[in-house]
Amino acid sequence: MTKSAERTPPGSADLTQLLSQLDLTKLGALAGKVDLAGLLNAAANMDESQLKQLSKALGVGQTKERKPRELPAPDGDFFGLMDTLTDEQREVAGQVKAFMHAEVAPIMNEYWNRDEFPRQIIDALRPLDLLRKVWNEDGTRKADATVMEGLITLEACKVDVSTAVFFGVHAGLAFASVALGGSAEQKAEWLPKMLDLKAIGAFGLTEPEGGSQVSQGMRTTCRRDGDAWVLNGQKKWIGNSTFSDFTVIWARDEDSSEVRGFIVRAGTPGYAVEKIQGKIALRIVENGLITLTDCRVPDSDRLQEVKGWRTTADVLRLTRAGVAWQGVGCAMGAYELAVKYAQDRKQFGKRIGEFQLIQNHLVHMLGNVTSMFTLCLRLSYMADHGIMKDEHAALAKVFTAARCRETVAFARETFGGNGILLENGVAKHFADTEAIYSYEGTNEINTLVVGRAVTGLSAFV
Ligand SMILES: Cc1cc2nc3c(=O)[nH]c(=O)nc-3n(C[C@H](O)[C@H](O)[C@H](O)COP(=O)(O)OP(=O)(O)OC[C@H]3O[C@@H](n4cnc5c(N)ncnc54)[C@H](O)[C@@H]3O)c2cc1C
Repeated sequence: MTKSAERTPPGSADLTQLLSQLDLTKLGALAGKVDLAGLLNAAANMDESQLKQLSKALGVGQTKERKPRELPAPDGDFFGLMDTLTDEQREVAGQVKAFMHAEVAPIMNEYWNRDEFPRQIIDALRPLDLLRKVWNEDGTRKADATVMEGLITLEACKVDVSTAVFFGVHAGLAFASVALGGSAEQKAEWLPKMLDLKAIGAFGLTEPEGGSQVSQGMRTTCRRDGDAWVLNGQKKWIGNSTFSDFTVIWARDEDSSEVRGFIVRAGTPGYAVEKIQGKIALRIVENGLITLTDCRVPDSDRLQEVKGWRTTADVLRLTRAGVAWQGVGCAMGAYELAVKYAQDRKQFGKRIGEFQLIQNHLVHMLGNVTSMFTLCLRLSYMADHGIMKDEHAALAKVFTAARCRETVAFARETFGGNGILLENGVAKHFADTEAIYSYEGTNEINTLVVGRAVTGLSAFV
């Protein structure tokens, strides 16, 4: 028997079914490559199994659903710097990240619009016990305090810079003032409550007429009167002061011209706080304009170990690295939002992340974020090992604030018009950067600090 005689002649139904399922576009394309008539002739003589094989080869009946390509999750830690940290440091960073997403992200736009700090997050923050990751009970610092503070700040700022500012003012400026300037009794009274977030502090240094020059032109005065001091003057921009339990007030002694620090308790007669309204940055932080009118503070609330401006400067030195970290977190948060948006948003039938110019923005941002993160990690390491000088912190502040400004601008641009809507997140980062740029030493003043260090010549006027 010949081979063809052995074959089961194809049922015309099989061939008709095959032809009915052929994609005509594909068939047209095939016609240019193979002898289609010959193929159909051959098919007419095929048995059922051969027809099945041909169907498979032609992809008939296989509706190929293209699986959407999985895109990488946005990640601002491109060089894996988190991997260089200790388990505890990573764990604390993870806790802050989870807290920010669970407790702050859902309410932050509402509070931004209300120009108000959500005080309920203080209770939610308490179980994390973050201050004890930085400070010991006696007011000395943990061995890796500055790195830890940096990571807390980074993770907070990725979501909301204002939350980091609340924490930085209380756990940094106010806590350090008591820790460095307080007597043993004062530390025993305040530090445990501050560690537990049961007493919230504020830091009153800047004045309406004395910002950058406050060390030289402090107008708030103190005068000894029996067992008390009488304070007069104004302090401007004082974060947390609208609800804090006390504010550290820095004032110049009318007799000796020495700078002194005082713990001024909320409700003290002659101490009035007015909330500054209408800010375009850090609207969730409550900044106060404090007026002191013959405000009597007992000598027991004068910070007993303050050694003039030197102590104020020591407090600022301790916290300046934290402000540099705010720039890293703010920029990283904005970058990650921009990557996600570029992966999702479509224009001209493509994701905007497929456009070269958008990729250029993203890569520029990532370069900024990576260099800022690396710099701050090293800065904090230097601080924790006692080798950081003022000019190191100043350069970090100058560099990160400037790169943050550039990064959030690119991020906002990536969102197009949607970038100015609060609901998309990036607008808040964009606005908050303006405050980072100006506080804890403006970029000009920090530039002069670095300039003086590298040239040996002072350009301060
Ligand atoms: C949101 C926010 C929160 C803040 N929180 C606090 C707080 O909790 N406690 C507190 O005490 N303070 C706080 N501040 C104050 C902050 O530290 C000051 O704003 C900052 O020190 C700058 O002072 P200034 O705003 O008065 O600017 P100015 O000192 O008036 O400076 C105006 C401009 O002149 C430039 N300039 C000044 N002097 C020189 C010079 N010699 N050479 C070159 N350029 C110069 C500055 O760089 C700046 O560009 C806060 C500020 C803001 C905006």
